[in-house]
Amino acid sequence: MKYQVPRYLGIQDVQRTKKNSYVLNVGFSDHLSKKVQVDSEAMEVLKFFLQAKTANAAKKNFSWSDAKTQEVLEGLKTAKLLVEVPKRPKKYERYDRHSLFYQLGDLNGLEAQKILSQKKVALIGAGGIGNWVGLNLIGAGFKEIRIIDFDRVELTNLTRQVLFDEKDLGKLKTEVAAKALQKKNTQTKVRPVEMKVTSAKELKKVLKGMDFVILSADRPEKIHDWVDEACQALQIPYLNIGYRDGEGVVGPMTVPGKTSCYQCFKSQTSEDKTKDHSSAEIQNLFDDRYQAPSFGPLNALVSTVGSLEVIKYFTGLGELRSLDTEISVNALTLEWRHHSYHRDAHCWHCQSDSL
Ligand SMILES: [Zn+2]
Repeated sequence: MKYQVPRYLGIQDVQRTKKNSYVLNVGFSDHLSKKVQVDSEAMEVLKFFLQAKTANAAKKNFSWSDAKTQEVLEGLKTAKLLVEVPKRPKKYERYDRHSLFYQLGDLNGLEAQKILSQKKVALIGAGGIGNWVGLNLIGAGFKEIRIIDFDRVELTNLTRQVLFDEKDLGKLKTEVAAKALQKKNTQTKVRPVEMKVTSAKELKKVLKGMDFVILSADRPEKIHDWVDEACQALQIPYLNIGYRDGEGVVGPMTVPGKTSCYQCFKSQTSEDKTKDHSSAEIQNLFDDRYQAPSFGPLNALVSTVGSLEVIKYFTGLGELRSLDTEISVNALTLEWRHHSYHRDAHCWHCQSDSL
């Protein structure tokens, strides 16, 4: 095992205070920066460990006893000035900067990457959000990304659906997106599934074996109910990502057996209203000409926050914020809101004994 002063730890300046004493001003941000006082001997040890070295090499270099070696290493590790550097398989080389980020979040960078490389994620919807989430996930090194959609690329998609080009007009989104993503990382299997979802039963077939589902389709009208039903039956967590007027929405993240489900959510957000014929007709007329405004930067923003939540879910990085919570951002004011939902103790869906 080798040890090294963490590569993510930057240094602002070093001041020599006395003949044998230095103050290191390390880190650049409020949450990481600190002043570390070291004597000249400790400074030599830090300098030694700027490159990855074994404990034995340090023992030999400084003529320490075993006990002294252990004591120095433990002290530096506790002060977060030294981390273990595991032997990294060559296939993980490309994830080096991500691994450093996981280290920054107090994880073992290699272990976090190993976890991701074993997870399969399905994207329901290959539109503005599916495109950006796909980009984030292919970079992060998942085992498989399965893209489910039936649409073809249109001219009006090109403002935000970043995996498509003008030459792709008329082609299947799943095929074009899969090809574009696959080119970026051959370690991840990218599987396009051309499918117009019409029931939870169909979804169950295509989602079987997946470890996570991203829902970014808002049609057909029942899609959220079907995804909820399929994921509940298969015990797969899923995350809703979308937009509503000028707001981008991430969450809630639904984890079967742990969080509220969509049916709990629905009962807290809507009332059952019976409509007369004329009201229904007006509603249909409005719905028929409705076109959701979809904006590139907002798509990117919520997709990226959603991707971050998925990585956090699997690795334990930082803090998950979308469990039982809808995170929304107003694109016009950049105001973020967190709206919490609780699990309905009498929910017919997630509290059912048959699960
Ligand atoms: Zn429920």
